[in-house]
Amino acid sequence: MEPMRKLFVPCAALLAAAFAAPAAVMPDLAQLQKMSARFAPVKLQHDESKLSAGDRAALHKLTDAARVLNTIFMDQLWRGSRALYRQLEQDTTPLGQARLHYFWLNKSPWSDLDDHTAFLPGVPERKPLGADFYPPDMTRQEFEAWVKTLPEAQRRQAEGFFTVIRRDPTPQHKLISVPYSQEWNQDLRNAADLLRQAAALTSNPTLKRFLNLRAGAFLSNDYYESDLAWMDLDAPLDITIGPYETYNDELFGYKAAFEAYITIRDDRETERLKNFADHLQAVENHLPIDPRYRNPKLGAAAPIRVVNEVYAAGDGAHGVRTAAFNLPNDERVIQQKGSKRVMLKNVQQAKFDVNLKPIAARVLPASSQSDLSFDSFFMHILAHELSHGIGPHQIQVGGRATTPRQELKELYSAIEEAKADVTGLFMLQYLFDHGMPHAPNAERQLYTTFLASAFRSLRFGLTEAHGKGMAMQFNYLSDKGAFVANSDGAFAVNFAKVKDAVRDLAHDLLTLEAEGNYSQAKHMLDTYGVIRPNMRQAIDRLGAIPVDIDPVNESNR
Ligand code: ZN
Repeated sequence: MEPMRKLFVPCAALLAAAFAAPAAVMPDLAQLQKMSARFAPVKLQHDESKLSAGDRAALHKLTDAARVLNTIFMDQLWRGSRALYRQLEQDTTPLGQARLHYFWLNKSPWSDLDDHTAFLPGVPERKPLGADFYPPDMTRQEFEAWVKTLPEAQRRQAEGFFTVIRRDPTPQHKLISVPYSQEWNQDLRNAADLLRQAAALTSNPTLKRFLNLRAGAFLSNDYYESDLAWMDLDAPLDITIGPYETYNDELFGYKAAFEAYITIRDDRETERLKNFADHLQAVENHLPIDPRYRNPKLGAAAPIRVVNEVYAAGDGAHGVRTAAFNLPNDERVIQQKGSKRVMLKNVQQAKFDVNLKPIAARVLPASSQSDLSFDSFFMHILAHELSHGIGPHQIQVGGRATTPRQELKELYSAIEEAKADVTGLFMLQYLFDHGMPHAPNAERQLYTTFLASAFRSLRFGLTEAHGKGMAMQFNYLSDKGAFVANSDGAFAVNFAKVKDAVRDLAHDLLTLEAEGNYSQAKHMLDTYGVIRPNMRQAIDRLGAIPVDIDPVNESNR
């Protein structure tokens, strides 16, 4: 059957005329180059030498499949993208090439780092909230009213992950749900073919099974079986490919965007992590809180896998790059098999090199530079992730069973992110003190690297949970004497005070979560979650240090 979208999609030129924003001034060549320079070009390192010959051949097929998803993802953000991108490819002027490059970094005509505002003429001024998952003229109210009229099964389709909403060709232009398998029929057939070819090349049975099932899902639009098979995937060539996250649907958060991460598993790091995760109960039993708030029996933690990225595509490859993810999102799969955390180690290494190192050069004194350590940075990210799983989760407030999230409401994200950071520090210190092998200067490295990375998070601003939570930690720990400002404007760790200060902050945050204490959370954030003048000066000195990375291995131009 002819894909339905052909019948309704006007050409890009017509769309451009309809959406044109004559008043907006678009960035010129110099401005675009400055905007692009916020992403430092990097070559992501990975090692294919341990892959079998079959897996190496499969890797190329998978990369080709991922490229197909890039194109689908561009469509998902805006239906004019494909034509516009092709047009830019033909524009050989310096401005045309700069626009093409910045389009590639964003996978759309809107700048991710600038609140999704347009950097090209002839497109909507800002990314539409519903991207292209819904008709451009549809309102929230129209969708909600329509959904109420639908029988249960159709309502689930309309609100589901894997359909787009379109208008039918009748004069009333009624809303209809169109499965992804139909909307992107030809592209998904191509991607499915490539997955099946890769499945034939690999000898790993779990990868073979996942790839064949996922190829089937692209055509049937039913992802359940293949999501289960992804949880069972146990292969050196570790891949994630399909429609997953719903962040691009800012209207309802229903619709999943296509993405791919083609990666190679890092067995040594995965093993080290497992070791770490095995000691979670011991850490929980020693958390610096009233013993009645500790959980004597933690549930099974989500397995963590460390991988190195070879190629990312679609939703996994625009704006600030994903450094770790936790999937799948389908609650039925989570109920049955749990979920899996994946850490992209070489992406984190690249961010550390182009972003954290230059930041440290400006905010730490010369004598502390040698304590900056990627291993500490990486271990703390892991400890942060694991810390989300410990501490109070099921709590009692006035005899009522509830959760910190319900009680702390809009403050929860900032408090929970800060708790994970500081409990992560506590966890690593506890493990250092209780037999985990570590370098003699591991403690110095841990706190110094954390101090430098605080400035990295603060640059993203206080509107974001991580930034607000980091400002709170920084000021609290400074007031306890753990961080000191030198007269030259640099900041240093006071090693005589930092351990106690971390313990105090972990105690305060864990306790307010255990008590579901909204007013205490508000007090903490109002008092400490602010930018003070010496912090402001330090952030201003960071100036043009890149915000993120531009992996050159992914270029398909
Ligand atoms: Zn977190």
